[in-house]
Amino acid sequence: MGQSYFCDYCGCFMKSDLNVRKLHNNGISHTVAKYRYMRRFEDAAKILAEERLKNPCQRYSKGILPVRSVLQLWSIIVIRSPRSGKS
Ligand SMILES: [Zn+2]
Repeated sequence: MGQSYFCDYCGCFMKSDLNVRKLHNNGISHTVAKYRYMRRFEDAAKILAEERLKNPCQRYSKGILPVRSVLQLWSIIVIRSPRSGKS
């Protein structure tokens, strides 16, 4: 039986083969998972400044996205912020 490789960013096992690992590491799901993981260690003020530079969500502007969803996303950001004093 071959050995398996565990990706810490994605939390999944795969065959420990060079080509399989290269393919996985170049995939979009791994890239997004790695970006999100590394984003945890950035300064909250820097993340907020970057988010403010983004264009507003068109679905929210048109009223398609309910306000409650936006507030839930905001509470997640605040709870994860190291400056908020919460866990
Ligand atoms: Zn991965």
